[in-house]
Amino acid sequence: MNYLIRFNIFKMILPALWLLSSAISGAYGQDPYLPQRKEMVIKQIAARGISNQKVLDAFLNVPRHEFVPYEYRRFAYADQPLPIGEGQTISQPYMVAYMTEVLNIKPGEKVLEIGTGSGYQAAILAEVEAEVYSIEVIEPLAISAKNTLKNLGYKNIRLKTGDGYQGWAEHAPFDAIVVTCSPSAIPEALREQLAEGGRMVIPVGRQNSIQYLYVLEKRKGKIRERNVMPVRFVPMIDSQGKAY
Ligand code: SAH
Repeated sequence: MNYLIRFNIFKMILPALWLLSSAISGAYGQDPYLPQRKEMVIKQIAARGISNQKVLDAFLNVPRHEFVPYEYRRFAYADQPLPIGEGQTISQPYMVAYMTEVLNIKPGEKVLEIGTGSGYQAAILAEVEAEVYSIEVIEPLAISAKNTLKNLGYKNIRLKTGDGYQGWAEHAPFDAIVVTCSPSAIPEALREQLAEGGRMVIPVGRQNSIQYLYVLEKRKGKIRERNVMPVRFVPMIDSQGKAY
């Protein structure tokens, strides 16, 4: 084979290899759940009135299927809460979106979450550029959330295992507090750890009675609260598992 022919074969093989490799990365590199996630954002979240673009983008970016147990992955983008083990649940996507939008978080604000669970809400908060602090009382859930968030590369989230009833005094005050488990009354420590201008969203009510979602806002040291909708959350419990 003379030099010219070899050179020509080489010139043909290179683009062919390049085409093949980009076809492979196109097929396998893209998240196969992206179409389901887009549909979730359009039909469950935007259609119900969530309009903050950063919040919508956060739901498009966070791979919710990574936060649910393997056997429930195919339901990850369904319009419902799902079990995450230990008798706990990851909230319905719309509920997470509502609670995020109502807090109106600005970049760099400090946000405390009580009830890390799967870590999904914490990831959404990180996507809207909050500095996230999150507490989970059930250790196996805390460990699993930590691994999920680490594997996905989230860095601005600090996790703690323990009872969040008393908040997280060392890092207080917080610009926003989101509580994803329901106590029978709003914990005093959480009110105190709200910064001036701070917002809190929290379900209140015992497990077997009606719970309501409350939105609080601290202005000039005074807290105004409003009851926004009936909800269903797991109870807030202490480290012995007793409901507050
Ligand atoms: N935000 C979570 C939802 C988890 S459900 C998510 O996105 O997946 C609520 C969580 O609150 C449960 O994991 C439960 O174990 C936790 N929890 C209950 N009482 C708590 C308490 N006193 N302190 C911290 N976490 C608590």
